[in-house]
Amino acid sequence: MTESHVPFWHVTVLTLFPEMFPGPLGFSLAGKALEKGTWTLEKLDIRSFTRDKHRSVDDTPFGGGPGMVMRPDVLDAAIRDAKARQEAAGLKPGRIVYLSPRGRVLDQALVREIASEGTLTLLCGRYEGIDERVIEEHRLEEVSLGDFVLSGGEPAALCLIDAVVRLLPGVMGNVETAGEESFERGLLEYPHYTRPPVWNGRAVPEILLSGHHEKVRAWRLEQAEKITQGRRPDLWSDYLASRPAPKVKKRRARRASAEPTKTTAIPDGNGGSIEG
Ligand code: SAH
Repeated sequence: MTESHVPFWHVTVLTLFPEMFPGPLGFSLAGKALEKGTWTLEKLDIRSFTRDKHRSVDDTPFGGGPGMVMRPDVLDAAIRDAKARQEAAGLKPGRIVYLSPRGRVLDQALVREIASEGTLTLLCGRYEGIDERVIEEHRLEEVSLGDFVLSGGEPAALCLIDAVVRLLPGVMGNVETAGEESFERGLLEYPHYTRPPVWNGRAVPEILLSGHHEKVRAWRLEQAEKITQGRRPDLWSDYLASRPAPKVKKRRARRASAEPTKTTAIPDGNGGSIEG
């Protein structure tokens, strides 16, 4: 991190395994953007903040039980140092996220929010997790990658950073594409096709070869809606609620409600299908 160049986005990662970073983020679009200085990464080794001769970062849990808990005094020193370094580099310390299965589940809205802020600090847990008092003391925001348990916060941190970095200015070549992607409109994405036009006896949908942009756009929206409705009822009901109510003529609306609902089989993405 240099003082002269202020990046679009900076992240400080507190971890027991700094060698894991940038890891996969050193490649492809994120890697190029890191090289260019679009975003900057500082990793701090939590172990370097220990004061005892054994350099211990964890201890047994009060109240008994399995595993070890990361010590509050060591984590506190690491967090304070992260902030001090950000300030010294001319950055305004922003939110501090503790990656944790108890947290708010990460979604595209939160990713966008984080991308719009200049500075982020990520704390990666290991073992059973961290002493609760650090969460209170530093008002850590707990963010989860999903309802499953990882062995450490590092893979979750890498995912979060990846999702943020691709939204930074200039990282993705085609900004228009990003707006149509899954979740950006509250919908999952439509299916993609490329050459050859017929492969293994499977032809690309005719409309995509028509060159008729308006029809292609309508077809893609319809596909995105079908897929979302079939696979993610949670997203679908949010989408319906946020959409302006369609203008339906009274007579037709009455007839429609008397008809039994048609079912269409929609692939569920796992080789099966869902009735929708
Ligand atoms: N005992 C904890 C799990 C600890 S797993 C519990 O039952 O809730 C060890 C570390 O992995 C955590 O401190 C956290 O930083 C990380 N981790 C595990 N699952 C995660 C998830 N779904 N999202 C984000 N981080 C996770």
